[in-house]
This record gives sequence, structure tokens and C-alpha cells, in this order.
Amino acid sequence: SSWFRNIDQAPKDPILGVTEAFLADQSPSKVNVGVGAYRDDNGKPVVLDCVREAEKRVAGSQFMEYLPMGGSIKMVEESLKLAYGENSEFIKDKRIAAVQALSGTGACRLFAAFQQRFHPNTQIYIPVPTWANHHNIWRDAGVPLKTFRYYYPESRGLDFAGLMEDIKNAPDGSFFLLHACAHNPTGVDPTEEQWREISSLIKSKGHFPFFDMAYQGFASGNLERDAKAISIFLEDGHLIGLAQSYAKNMGLYGQRVGCLSVLCEDEKQAVAVKSQLQLISRPMYSNPPLHGALIVSTVLGDPELKKLWLEEVKVMADRIIGMRTTLRENLEKRGSPLPWQHITNQIGMFCYSGMTPEQVDRLTSEFHIYMTRNGRISMAGINSGNVGYIADAIHEVTK
Ligand code: PMP
Repeated sequence: SSWFRNIDQAPKDPILGVTEAFLADQSPSKVNVGVGAYRDDNGKPVVLDCVREAEKRVAGSQFMEYLPMGGSIKMVEESLKLAYGENSEFIKDKRIAAVQALSGTGACRLFAAFQQRFHPNTQIYIPVPTWANHHNIWRDAGVPLKTFRYYYPESRGLDFAGLMEDIKNAPDGSFFLLHACAHNPTGVDPTEEQWREISSLIKSKGHFPFFDMAYQGFASGNLERDAKAISIFLEDGHLIGLAQSYAKNMGLYGQRVGCLSVLCEDEKQAVAVKSQLQLISRPMYSNPPLHGALIVSTVLGDPELKKLWLEEVKVMADRIIGMRTTLRENLEKRGSPLPWQHITNQIGMFCYSGMTPEQVDRLTSEFHIYMTRNGRISMAGINSGNVGYIADAIHEVTK
């Protein structure tokens, strides 16, 4: 039978490919700064203490029944408080349609499917560059994709003028995908003042802002500060969509816990939107997984555990911020004539180093340092033990 004969092997995922090559390397000095997962200063993955404690409490305490279609109500409630504010009027007025989602990816995909169903011909604009999966998610959902300028290679910073121009020139009533904080892959976020201008322009154009917030707390160590862009948009009276993820900030990567929310005009609309989101998820996965949602609702629902979590998020964020300073100092100490301020100006998990694909290839072949060819360094892979080695190598290949 010829059912599968003409199927070619799919291209390798660029990031997972980096990890594969890293694992196959036998060198003792090898370093993986490809994948975006947090490591402590010993290069080890971390399970947060608040999560360990929540797991103890959860173990054996629950039946393993299905969650409702929209997921854990408690987890969703707590998630909304983090993003929209503890005393948000939108929460009080029940204007937010929200469901548990399969982490940030699933939240984006569910929104993309929703968008495709109710605004089938309306394009979404995504930044250049962006997390590569954004392209796949909206493409597979059948939404027309456009891009807007975001990064300015010369300054290794924001192309604010280009971004504003592209927002202005997009047809009125387009969707715009914005990274709420810690833009992946560039680590470049707009300033508060720039967010205000972006918000005001998006408003006047009647665009719909969709926020992907995969790193709340992880950027600055402060949850409110990292949600500042959202609060600016809310003040300006936008309706918004929002994807939240607990992969990074609670270290729950493989548990796939997240939340999709859509701020509506009133409660009736929110009820309708939520019911439609559930209608989309039902034939895809029926209802979301239980364990991770229990961990999150246990941590966030207990003041002591929540306090511990906030401290632990800050420890992770501070370690990364500290490593940025150390990496930059090390490069400058070695007499590198290149500007490296962007290492400390950028924020979040990644540093968009500005290295060329050829320079990255040399890092890998000569120094066993693994990363994506766009020059993106996962800061989480850098620690006090390897930062000197990495600086030496970067200096060598950028001379
Ligand atoms: N959006 C962005 C911008 C990301 O960087 C990530 C994680 N790499 C995600 C979404 C989704 O991650 P997850 O599905 O693991 O929550």
C-alpha cells in the first residue's frame, strides 16, 4: 500500500537539533547555550522549592478525575490576578474569558484557532524576529501572517521607528502579536514610554493586541514590572488576548500549564467567548492536564508558598541579570573592541549577540559551544564556571 510512500522526512527543529549535537559531543568543555531552559550556577536544571512543597501537598490528596473543559478554575483565577492585577475591575466585572491551556504554546494555538474561526481573513502581524514557533502556530491554524519590524541590528536594540510605521501602515483592525516582556529571541523590550506610544497607535488603528507572556517575573524578577505593558494597554481601554505560561517562571516546562484569556466588552460576551474556546479545545484534547494545574493553584493559592515562589523567581532572574554583567565585563576585560552594552541592555532568558552564523559555527566547531545560528545565547546556560571560557571563545571568533 502506498499511503505513506511519498512523505519526506520533516526538517529538523533548529533548537532541538542544537541539543542533539550537544549531547553527541564528547568534549568535557562543551557548553549548551541553545535551549531556553533555566539552569542554576552549577549548570543543573531546577525544581523550585515551592513546587516541591506543592507536589507533596498534592500527592494523594486528589482524585484523578477530568478537569472541566476550561481547566482548573482556581488555576485560571490565580493566573488572571497575576496578569491583570489582584484587584482588577475586569476580573470583578467578569469581563475576561479564560481557560487553562497547554502551556504558552497551547494558549497561542488556541487563540490562533479562535481567531481563524471568527476572523478568518484577518491577518496577524508578528515581530521580526520572533520565537520561531509563532510562525508555525498561526500558519497551521490557517491565519494569514504578516510581519512588523522590531529589531534593529546596528544598535542591537529596538527598531522603534520601523515598528511604529508598520503598525500605522497595517490595515485597520489587524491582529498584532506582542511579547509582553523578555522578547524571544532578542531580549529587547520597548521602554515604558515606548509601550505607551505603541498602545496609543494600536488603539487609534483599531488593531487587536495579543500578548504572549511566557516570562512573567523571569525578566526583572518582579511580576508586576514584567506585566507593565499589559497594564498600560488595559489603562488605554484595549480589549486584549493573552497567553500565559508557567514553563519558565515556575519551572514547570514539561507539565504544560498555561492560561489563555480574552478581555471582552462585558460579561455576556466573555461567557460566549469562553464557550467557543471550549468548543475548539474539546475535539483537540477534550480537557487539559491535571497535575501541573494543581501545582500552580496550590502555590498561588497559599500566601506562604506564593511568597516563596516570588523569591525563587527573583533568584532565577537575578542570576541571569548577574551573568549578563559578568559576560560583558569578561569580554571587555579581554580587550574586545566591539560594543557589548547590549548584553546588559537586553533582558530575559536570551542575549541576541549579533554574532554571524559563521562565527557561531566556529564557536561550535572550535570551542564546543552550542547555540542557534542566529547568534542567540541562552543566558541560562552561562554560569560562573563557564563564563570565562565562553568570553574567551566569543572574543576569539569576533576578533
Ligand atoms: N512564547 C514564547 C515567546 C516563548 O519563548 C515560549 C517558550 N520558548 C513560549 C511561548 C511557549 O513555551 P511553553 O509552551 O513551554 O509555555
